[in-house]
Order: sequence, then structure tokens, then C-alpha cells
Amino acid sequence: MLVSLTSTTPVATDLGYLLHKHPDRVRSVDVAFGRAHVFYPVATAQRCTATTYVEVDAFSRTRHRKPRRAQGLEPYLNDRPYAASSMLSVALGRLFRTALNGTCEARPELVVQPLDLEIGLPVVPVRGGQELLRHLFEPLCYEVVCSSIALDPEFPAWGDSHYVAARLAGRQTVRSALEHLYVLLPVLDDAKHYWIGPDEVDKLLSRGGGWLGSHPEADLITRRYLRIPEYTREALARLADTGEDSDLLDTQRDAAEQATESPLRLGEQRLDAVLEVVRSAGAGRVLDLGCGEGRLLERLIVEPTVTRAVGVDVSVGALKRAERRLKLEEMSERRRERIQLLQGALTYTDSRLQGFDVATVIEAVEHLDAERLDVFAEVVFGHISAPTVVLTTPNREYNQNFEQLDGRGLRHEDHRFEWTRGEFEAWARGIGARFGYGVEISTVGPVDPVCGPPTQMAVFSR
Ligand code: SAH
Repeated sequence: MLVSLTSTTPVATDLGYLLHKHPDRVRSVDVAFGRAHVFYPVATAQRCTATTYVEVDAFSRTRHRKPRRAQGLEPYLNDRPYAASSMLSVALGRLFRTALNGTCEARPELVVQPLDLEIGLPVVPVRGGQELLRHLFEPLCYEVVCSSIALDPEFPAWGDSHYVAARLAGRQTVRSALEHLYVLLPVLDDAKHYWIGPDEVDKLLSRGGGWLGSHPEADLITRRYLRIPEYTREALARLADTGEDSDLLDTQRDAAEQATESPLRLGEQRLDAVLEVVRSAGAGRVLDLGCGEGRLLERLIVEPTVTRAVGVDVSVGALKRAERRLKLEEMSERRRERIQLLQGALTYTDSRLQGFDVATVIEAVEHLDAERLDVFAEVVFGHISAPTVVLTTPNREYNQNFEQLDGRGLRHEDHRFEWTRGEFEAWARGIGARFGYGVEISTVGPVDPVCGPPTQMAVFSR
């Protein structure tokens, strides 16, 4: 039973710091069902692979138990030594607890750094086929290459087994990659080889809290991981709860941001600037990412060229407010068909978001953790890939002109960062070069001779 984790981001041997396992040594620990080892078959500056191998004592579970008559040969002849099951997940949890907790004392800056990672799973049991494997990992921004393993290569007519050989590649932090494996291996197998107690709910939320809530398969993952309906209900309620709390907070923080910017009527000016781009592109299908309460959508649906306007937001509360603002219930059927609100995240691929002429990201990027920006770029410019993308964001240098700011000198408590003009331009040009877009940077609002404009805008076009 094994899994390999490879980094190809130089200096690739930094993986050793992140995993707390030296590339020159083999580390082994005892686990309930055998012994788990980590070693590095390759460790160069360009490529470094850490392989976790679990030696399973196939009889360990039966030895201390009274045999049950119905068990037959199962205790002696089973897939445990070979297949990447919940036991591998337990071993990963034991071996890499520090990395899973996001601790790296020697090189703390590495913890949040996304690396080009490859995960190799030579034999993974999947109830639900390759399709399920894709549905679980692709939204987390992995490229999935997999093939079914024949039941017996000598007898092709017997068909395929439920085992799959998989290779997952993605730009991820090591911590996220370990969390994904830890939670999703037992989900793929749809079986757990150990007793499930109420603390499993906490385990799931602690390892999946950052990404599970907005994963399109959150229900299935939770159901399969916890198996017991009572625990599943509790976990889903707790995941939803975080959303509700933050919705209330969001409304308060949004009001504070609007109060800061309102003397400039900045919100209106931003929408005007974005609509100008939509008009000059003659766009029919427009996607508003992080649509909030639907201020842009409200204006898009009365544009003569726009045939379809779709708003996406991660917050259920914001979408409800958008529904009310747009009066979707009372809307004429003709107009209603042209507009749609979807719950989704800017950091997950989602095929519903493809096929648009223009994608807009208005005052939303600064709500993402800086370490998720690479994934965001992959999703918006690589996956959604609309020919025109319009993005606006605050210019931090302008903040000295505002009286009300939060404790960190930013405009909104949920802003994870705000870029200076130089930082924004460098990021935007980098995106242009990486994804093949032309980039035009412009300003919104009154330009201060020293600090520049309050809002900066980039139009990316292919
Ligand atoms: N574009 C709107 C709202 C801006 S506020 C406007 O200009 O009025 C930022 C919005 O981004 C919020 O509604 C928030 O819920 C949403 N958001 C934050 N992080 C997100 C994510 N990861 N995925 C999708 N939406 C997100």
C-alpha cells in the first residue's frame, strides 16, 4: 500500500522540511495494523519524491478476535496490503501530523507556499469509478490521469476491477495535498477499517474545514467519510453554520466598506467602468465572479447585447440578498431566463462557469488568502478562460485619504490584502504572460497625484 508525493518546484528537497522527514533517511512508525515507512527514492533540487509505504499485517485485525463463521477466507485473503485505503489515511495522519497542522519550525514561510506537486497512487480502490475520482480531485485543482486496473490481465474478458491507478498533479501547498488525501482516500474506498466515533466529525472538520464547505461534492464526501447519518448531519450543519455566521458578519463589514468609500460614489463609478468594457466587447454572455448582492447583474440585465448574466458567490447570504435586489420572483419570464445565480467558489474549477464572453471579478480578489491566488488564477484564466476578464481591486496607497479604515489600515475587515499600484500591475502582467492575455491597467475614481486612484482595474483580453 503506497502513495508518493513529488515536488518539482526548486528547491524540491524543501519537501523534507515540510514533511519533517530528512530525505537521506528512512523513518518508520508502528500503526495499529502494521508498520508505516517514509523514504525518498529521488531527492534532487529539481525533483523530490517522498514515498509512504505501509506494511500491513493482513491478520492483525483477526488475531485477537473470535472468528466469525461467515468471514470465510476474507481475513487471510484481502486487498489490505496493496490498496490505498483508510489505513493509508491513518498512516499519513500519524507520519505527517506536524505538516497537517501547518507547522514547519525550520522554514515557516514554506507552509503557505504552493508547489508543483504530483501524487502517485498505484492502486486505489474506488467505489464509483474514475468519474468519482475526477469529481473529487478536479474541483480542488488537480489534473487527474487515471486508468482502471484489470481484474486479471491474463483474462481480459473478466473486465476491470474497482481499483484504479491514479496520478494527480496540481499546484498546492503540501499541507492541502495531505489534507486532501487524508479525507478523500477513505471516501474513494467508501469503507473504513476502524471504529468510527463522534470525534471523527472533529477530525473531518479540522482536516477539511478550509476546503470542504464549498466543494461541489461536500455532501457525498461527508456522508462517505462519516458513514453514520447522525454524524453526517452534525458535520453538514457545522459546515453550513460557519457560512451563516460569516454572512451576518459580511453584511456588517460590507456596510463599513461602503461608508468608507461612499463620498466618492465609488461603487457606481466601478460599475460604469466595468459596463463600458462589456459594451465595447459587445458581450452576450457575462459571468460575474464574487457577485455579492448582484449590483452588476442588476445593470447587466438591462443591457441590450447581454443575453445571459450569471452571478457566482460563495456566500449563501449574499446570493439571497442578490435574489431580493433583482426581484427574481417578480421578473418576467423572458428576463428571468437570462439571469442565474450560482453558489460557487473562485478557487474551484466548475464547468458551469465556462463558455462566457466576459468574466468580471469586482472587488473580490482581495477577499482571497494570498496563498490561494495561484489557484484562483488557474481557475479564472486557465479553466474559465473567458476571452475578456475585468478585475477591480482597491489601491492600498490611496487609503490615507480615508478616515475610517480597519485596524490594519485596510477598507474591509475581510480583505486579506490590498495591493499597491506596483504590486497589482506586477501581478496582472504575470497573469497575462502566464495565460496568454493582453493586459490594460486603468483607474476608477479621482486620481490623487501622489497616491493614485482609489480603485485599480485590469482588463485582460485574448
Ligand atoms: N462584486 C460585488 C461584491 C464584492 S464583495 C460588488 O462589487 O458589489 C466580495 C464578494 O466576494 C463577497 O460577496 C464574497 O462573498 C465573495 N467571495 C469571497 N471569497 C470568495 C470565493 N472564494 N469564491 C466566491 N466568492 C467569494
